[in-house]
Order: sequence, then C-alpha cells, then structure tokens
Amino acid sequence: MTMSYPARADIDLDAFRANLSVARAAAATSKVMAIVKADAYGHGRAECARAALAEGADYLGVAQLGEALELRREVGAGPRILTWIYAPMAPVQDAIEADIDLSVGTLWALDAVVAAARALGRPARIHLKVDTGMSRGGFCPEDVPEVASIVRAHELAGDVVVVGLWSHLARADEPGGEFTDTQVTRFERARADVARAGIEIELHHLAASSGTLWHPETHYDMVRPGICLYGLSPNPAWATAAELGLRAAMTLSATMIVDREVEAGTGISYGHIAVTEARTRLGVVPLGYGDGIDRKASNVAPVVVGGQRTRVIGRVCMDQFMVRLPGGVGAGDTAWLFGDAGAGLPTADDWGEAIGTIGYEVVTRLGARVPRNYHGSVER
Ligand SMILES: *Cc1c(COP(=O)(O)O)cnc(C)c1O
Repeated sequence: MTMSYPARADIDLDAFRANLSVARAAAATSKVMAIVKADAYGHGRAECARAALAEGADYLGVAQLGEALELRREVGAGPRILTWIYAPMAPVQDAIEADIDLSVGTLWALDAVVAAARALGRPARIHLKVDTGMSRGGFCPEDVPEVASIVRAHELAGDVVVVGLWSHLARADEPGGEFTDTQVTRFERARADVARAGIEIELHHLAASSGTLWHPETHYDMVRPGICLYGLSPNPAWATAAELGLRAAMTLSATMIVDREVEAGTGISYGHIAVTEARTRLGVVPLGYGDGIDRKASNVAPVVVGGQRTRVIGRVCMDQFMVRLPGGVGAGDTAWLFGDAGAGLPTADDWGEAIGTIGYEVVTRLGARVPRNYHGSVER
C-alpha cells in the first residue's frame, strides 16, 4: 500500500495502550469503556479495539449500531460492546443477537428493543440514558420516575436487563466545574429515581476523557475515554497532551513528489492566495482535502520538513498541497504533518488550532485513502 500511496498514517498501538493506562490510573476504581467510534477516531477500529482489550478495557463503545455489529465481528464473542445511536426501524434484533448492549433514551427505542427481545425470546441488555444537560439524547430528568417504572415492568417480564444508567457531560473540558456539578446533581437524582423503581444498576457512567482526567466526582462505576486514548487533549488550552502524559497514536506524513524554486512574485496554487515575496523553494506534498486535509489549512497549518518547521503555502488542493522548503530537502524526502510533540512534530491539536477546529476533527476526518500502518503490540 505504501508503495502505491506516498502518504501514510503510522499508528502506534503501544502509545494507544499507554494512554489507556493513563486513563485507567486517573479513574483507578472505575471500569473503562474504550471509545472506538468513527473508525477509532480515524485510527482503525479493529486494531484499536483489540489493543484496548489487550490492555484490559472492560467495555468497547461505538456510537452507531452498524459500527457495533461490525465491531462484534472484529473482536469476536465475549467483549462487552455498547452502542447508542440507531433510528426507528434499525435492526436492534441483530444487535441483541450479537450480544451488544443498547442505550435506551426514548420511549420509541424502549418499545423497539422490547419488541425485538420478545421476538428473539431473549432479554436485551440496556443502558438507560438520561439527559442531564447536553440537550441531545436521553430521557428528561423529570420523566425518569415514570420511565423507570415502565422499564421495571419490562425487566420483570424478562424483556430487558437494565445494566447501566448513563449520561454525557457538556462542559467538562472547561476549567471551573459549575455546570458539571449541576449535571452530577441531576444524575444523582435520576439514580435515586431508578433505584426507587426497584431497578438495580450495575454500571453508572458519565465521564468521557475530560471527566476522566479532570472531574473525579464523575467517574462512578465506569468511564468512557475516547480522545485521550489517541494521545490528544480534550482541551489543549487547559492542558496539552504532553502535559497530560499522553502520546499521539497517529503520525501523518507523506513523501514529497516535487521540489522547485520559483521567483519573487509567483502565485501559488488555486486562486493565488499566496504570492512569494522572494525566490522560494517549494515542495509538493501528495495529500489534499480528498484525504481529509481541511482546506482551511491553506497558508496556515504547520509541517515539518528536514527537521525544520515550515507551513502550508497557498490553497490545499484535492490531492496535494505545497510547503515552503528549507534548504537541503526535496522530492523523496518526508513531510511530517502531525504526530507527537515529543518527536518534535506539530500535534493534531496544533493543526486544530491553526485551522479553527479541534484535534478530534483533524484525526477523525483523515480519509480512507491514506494507508494506516500499525506498530506495536496487541498481544494480551
Ligand atoms: C464520543 C463519546 C465519548 C468519548 O468522548 P471523548 O471526549 O473523545 O473522550 C464518550 N461518551 C460518549 C457518549 C461519546 O459520544
């Protein structure tokens, strides 16, 4: 693959595993659900899921039911999987058959899951979702008492086993935890309501990476770290990945295909949004927005070439972009877009800052066309 494609994403599974231990140490008495949604934030779901299990993850989490079904095939029977996004008419029966835990945060979802479980003659494992402040999915806190009694009846009828009660934090990545405190209070109330209905919950869970790292009071029985496993910070302005003891799992690089020198006053790439002020050496990097390199990286995103920091110059094209080249490097040499700060590279968080987004989006958007090369061990 790397012979045919000059760009590559090197994925360091040892770094991924080390990051998982950082998360585990931060929430030492809680179980850990490794979040591997969206192709493990662009890093490769099957490989990261296996590495997470090898490192002792208790659960795997993926957003979409379709991802969960594929993940089950990838990891085989046994590991616990939770999924939380599916639409009416989704094949929830397949999920129950595949031993996948389903989030239930609406009455239609409860009905669908109960109907599928009855058709199969086997209870569905569910995690009740309550909305404590995202205003996204989940039962409203005021509806929880009534919902809990309906759910309890289904549990007694053998249609569902209520494994979890969960929610998601909206502002845990900001210093100052006032709204997080509010969400914890609402979660506590839901917890009491559910207990009062006679439902015994094995797993209360609330925290993603930011809660795991920064809000111990949100750890409960299980934490759900995602971004920190990939070696990026939930909020680099609060603490960088390096400060958090995290190592980037992905390094993105490409072999330059052209080097050239242009005169002062030369317009570069589409629209000539960059014009050289002096004679300039340029390198052509064979990555573009067709590979998920955001067009907003034009003229601003950092790149390392020959051990020196340079920048994208001109507009990012579909399959390539240009950089200013320092002396002594050219076609055949490597342009490094992002990786670990400890290796002297810009991070995906730096790219996020340069282009007005977050590191999450930078790695998750990396296109399927870029080959992923895996390093490190997934042995148990
Ligand atoms: C994506 C996601 C996570 C992980 O979030 P990070 O900020 O990447 O740690 C956890 N829980 C839910 C419900 C999510 O959607």
